Amino acid sequence: MRALAAAVLLVALAGCVEIAIPSAPPAERPADPDDGLSTLDLVVVESGNGRPVAGAEVRLSIAGVGSIAKTTAADGSAAFTVEPATGCSVTVAKAGFQQRKAALDCTGDQAYRLSLARTPSASSGQGGSPPQGSSGGTGGNGTPPAEGNGTGEGNETAHRPFEPQEPSGSCGSLGSLEPVAPDPTLAGGLALGWPLLELDVALLADPAFVAAHPDDWRSLLEALVQDANLYYEDQLGLRLNLSVLDRLPDGSLAPGSGDGRQRAVARGFMHANHALADVDMVAVALGADYEGSVAGQVECVHGAVSPDYSYLWFEYDQDRDPGALVGSIGIFEDIPLKTYMHETAHLIAAHHHYSDCAESYTDLRTSDALGVCDIMINDVGLASFRFSPTNRLVMRSFVEDLGIGEPVA
Ligand SMILES: [Zn+2]
Repeated sequence: MRALAAAVLLVALAGCVEIAIPSAPPAERPADPDDGLSTLDLVVVESGNGRPVAGAEVRLSIAGVGSIAKTTAADGSAAFTVEPATGCSVTVAKAGFQQRKAALDCTGDQAYRLSLARTPSASSGQGGSPPQGSSGGTGGNGTPPAEGNGTGEGNETAHRPFEPQEPSGSCGSLGSLEPVAPDPTLAGGLALGWPLLELDVALLADPAFVAAHPDDWRSLLEALVQDANLYYEDQLGLRLNLSVLDRLPDGSLAPGSGDGRQRAVARGFMHANHALADVDMVAVALGADYEGSVAGQVECVHGAVSPDYSYLWFEYDQDRDPGALVGSIGIFEDIPLKTYMHETAHLIAAHHHYSDCAESYTDLRTSDALGVCDIMINDVGLASFRFSPTNRLVMRSFVEDLGIGEPVA
């Protein structure tokens, strides 16, 4: 064990040394399919309608080499040709849109479609005083409060009183699935290239998350779902559509209690306040440490079989910035996003034991040097942003078997 620990430390230190990005940008070369260079054809589109986004700045960064920026043309396209490299990522920015970051495979020629979401219409006046759990004038008249839709005013909406509820019905065991194989002509690689299906998701902030981010808890959670979609859309053909975004009332949950009430509270809240929302899963973002070393949990694996079991919680109490130090070594990125992606995947039947530790090497970054395994590995410190072929196949087959995904035009 001593030798192993020393080896890990050595890798970590080497990664640290390489994080400094020299000022010289990566050299640009003319495109040629057989030139041994990597040509990356990117198209930036608007999320929701697929329209090209012209004039967006696309910045390609290669770990240890540098970065280079281009502007998208009228058809939303931008192309880069560089020496094959690992640790590639791209940042796309345009005024009026939420900035996006994505990992790219720069080891060979690739084409990517990146969707950008518009910045939520600046309905200021959010933040400020948190709502009271059961006060307000809507109670007692039989009219449920308006459904939060990601743009609503959940910060101000009075919530109906509720009690925590345990699930009714049964999660059961996962029956056999009709395997769904993708069309291999749509994307290279194993178990990739499915047509897009949309799942409706609800996201609830706990009181600690709202307290930590009183002015931007909504946009932080919207960005998290957007960023999860980078990977869900590319690898699974699944888009998480944020159809309910709300917060749990003050006092409904307490960090550090370790009482495992997060899902029951969320269930009671949804039944009382969003009874009409037809969502496929409900996630609770916790802005503080609730359960010690456990970072997230689902009601049950494949819980999406039953609406009452399709609940998860995940901790979002760490920095999402690359290079943020987490734990004693901290060469891994974006634990909140990985945790959200992991628990969401459990609800649609992804399993730890379908993990492998192979694919992530293609997009490994120096800032994510410990993220070498499938995201379903049971230690988030080793998770990458990749799903293994087995998990991809199971998740996609499960969603199609249940019929919970809506085709996206
Ligand atoms: Zn897990």
